[in-house]
Amino acid sequence: MVRSPAITAGGIRFDKPFRTVSIFGATGSIGRSTADVILQHRQAFAVEVVTAQSRVDGLAEMAIRLDARLAVIGDASLFEALRTRLSGTGIAVAAGPAAIVEAASRPVDLVVAAIVGAAGLEPTLAAIDAGADIALANKECLVCAGALFNRRAAAANVRILPVDSEHNAIFQSLEAANVGAVERITVTASGGPFRTFSLDEMRRVTPAQALKHPRWSMGPKISIDSATMMNKGLELIEAHHLFDIGSDRLDVLVHPQSVVHGFVTYADGSTVAQLGAADMRIPISHCLNWPHRVATATPRLDLAAIGTLTFEKPDLERFPALSLARDALVRGDWATNILNAANEVAVGAFLEGAIEYLEIAATVEKVLERATATVGGTEFATVETVLALDAEGRRLAGEQIEFRGRRAS
Ligand code: NAD
Ligand code: MG
Repeated sequence: MVRSPAITAGGIRFDKPFRTVSIFGATGSIGRSTADVILQHRQAFAVEVVTAQSRVDGLAEMAIRLDARLAVIGDASLFEALRTRLSGTGIAVAAGPAAIVEAASRPVDLVVAAIVGAAGLEPTLAAIDAGADIALANKECLVCAGALFNRRAAAANVRILPVDSEHNAIFQSLEAANVGAVERITVTASGGPFRTFSLDEMRRVTPAQALKHPRWSMGPKISIDSATMMNKGLELIEAHHLFDIGSDRLDVLVHPQSVVHGFVTYADGSTVAQLGAADMRIPISHCLNWPHRVATATPRLDLAAIGTLTFEKPDLERFPALSLARDALVRGDWATNILNAANEVAVGAFLEGAIEYLEIAATVEKVLERATATVGGTEFATVETVLALDAEGRRLAGEQIEFRGRRAS
């Protein structure tokens, strides 16, 4: 069997004249695309909360444009700055990580989870506990908490609607009546900026090159993940949890044109896919309006102009992050948690120029090796265990990077 968000219990209140929505990570790439979709149908949504980590101006502007009731900035030292920007608007202001979690428990129909990294876990769980359906962009929170995340969603009777384009495509391709007849699920990958680079060429790539994605315009962390293809690895883990399907029935296919976003192969030999322009407003609109489809000003596909679609197998030798992630998925939630933590630290170090591109995957591999001996097999009964393991993964990655720095100097 496979699980489809369309047939799990709970769900969006379809018959309301509008939906109340909160956006966590509102100033980011997904957050801004979400605001754009909402502003195209202003009367259909009421915005409760918008949050950001440090961009005060962007957050204040967003809160005003969306007429939000509360704006929360993660960096507590920026409280006064935000308060000043919003004074006289009637929009309430708060600051600090605890205020973000608290804001997530405000009752709304749908929470857009668009914070980057494991930092999104606690707010998203708070939103789940408060009974909101989740439009999930923040794949890392699923990768780091694993089955615990799904247990919490099931206990609260809420739906997790996938924003990630591949998972949204799969969600659209899953026939609710035929989930028992699903043979395989495939996520496609653009292959990123280094798809045709040799290992030798990869040794010299810079953060600026890695940040330049050929198809998608995204935040820095996911752009680097796309360059290493760790993003596709995280997405395999994400697909496993979203659709309850084993790693042996999950495939990755490189498709440089990014037109076919994902597909489902059924037992009768049919393959059902979703196609669309590479514009995140399409899956975001699908989640915000689901189960309806609403006219949205996004580019339409011109297949005649595109002409050719190509597909190829991923090269695991040049993109070892993909194997590391698949391996972690098989080993269990503790391993995907460590993989995610080490990767977040390694990506940060690469962006700061502290390690080279090829060392990102090497760092993750080393950390997983070391963690196997100490925390291997840890089970997640509580969020505290999830966060403690995440902290351990970050500590080991920090040590690994420091050790490498000492060796080089
Ligand atoms: P981004 O860097 O553009 O934005 C991240 C947002 O999170 C910002 O609003 C930032 O203020 C906030 N934030 C960062 N650190 C935080 C912290 N510690 N606490 C609270 N808030 C914090 O990232 P993005 O590209 O919008 O991606 C967001 C999430 O969506 C990621 O998990 C990414 O993998 C996923 N996603 C993005 C895309 C895309 O096209 N951008 C596609 C699929 C999935
Ligand atoms: Mg994706």
